[in-house]
Amino acid sequence: MSLRAMSSYASFEFELDRVIAIIEERGAKKIGLQFPEGLRRSALQMAKKIEERTGAIVLISGNPCHGACDVDESLRTHVDVLFHFGHAEIEPMNKVVFIEVRSDADVIPALKQAIKLLKGRRIGLITTVQHVHKLGEARDFLTKHGKTCIIGKGDSRVKHDGQILGCNFSAARVDVDEFIYLGSGNFHPLGVTLATSKRVIIADPISNEVREVEPEPILRQRHTIIAKALDAKTFGIIVSTKSAQTRMELAERLQEKALRKGLEAHLISMDEITPERLLSFKADAFVNTACPRIAIDDAALFKTPMLTPIEFEIVLGERSWDDIKFDEM
Ligand code: SF4
Repeated sequence: MSLRAMSSYASFEFELDRVIAIIEERGAKKIGLQFPEGLRRSALQMAKKIEERTGAIVLISGNPCHGACDVDESLRTHVDVLFHFGHAEIEPMNKVVFIEVRSDADVIPALKQAIKLLKGRRIGLITTVQHVHKLGEARDFLTKHGKTCIIGKGDSRVKHDGQILGCNFSAARVDVDEFIYLGSGNFHPLGVTLATSKRVIIADPISNEVREVEPEPILRQRHTIIAKALDAKTFGIIVSTKSAQTRMELAERLQEKALRKGLEAHLISMDEITPERLLSFKADAFVNTACPRIAIDDAALFKTPMLTPIEFEIVLGERSWDDIKFDEM
């Protein structure tokens, strides 16, 4: 039996039978469920099915969940198994089972349009975990149309070939003319185009929209934020308490760099990083070593400039303005 969630154009598979089998195998009595925002509407239905079929007690996490790096640690201590839906594992964690949740959206209609925008012959294929099982089919389609397709292998943070994260574009470090990104949203393909200086065509299998990534607007926004931080004298360097986001060494290195330039820099340890929680710190600018998306996605919400580590190097005069990239872990 499967449990599926419908979006307007596709459904997502939650692997209910596998979840039940794991619960029975482990003799688990207390189960935790954690979903990212986009899948949360399936939470109650999932909990009901698990309770009916296993008699276990189910606790659903209501806390934010942005990625596989964002396991609900408090809930983990209270349950026998915590099922974390929607993301591929970054690092193994005791009691946590990652259920990736795949989309059944057909990738071919979007690829048919995307192929018209390609200029090169060697094409890199990249995607997020929801569509990673469709990469083989996408490669076959493009090969039939005369393209050579490369699906890169990412580093140890990335579970699947061709998979990219908002904080890791290592699967895109391949010798190609340009990329097709199978997926929704701009952040991942923007990161790839900045990391590789190659064109990226977005082919969204869910909406069937196809477009080329345009990095200029985000670059303009980032340059404005960097410019605002140029006169800063006191920096708050943020370190995440989430284990798969913690970069203490980097934070200490950045602090040392600032001190060497005669600036004041303090390390701030945080779990959820929000504009409200930073308001009371009287820093002139912040540097975020936690999830790289925070500085970019929430840029408009921060009253004080929020820099990435790479942008901080530009502020310190150690990197050129042209060499701006998205931060990676
Ligand atoms: S650090 Fe950010 S981008 Fe990376 S997996 Fe976690 S939420 Fe996603």
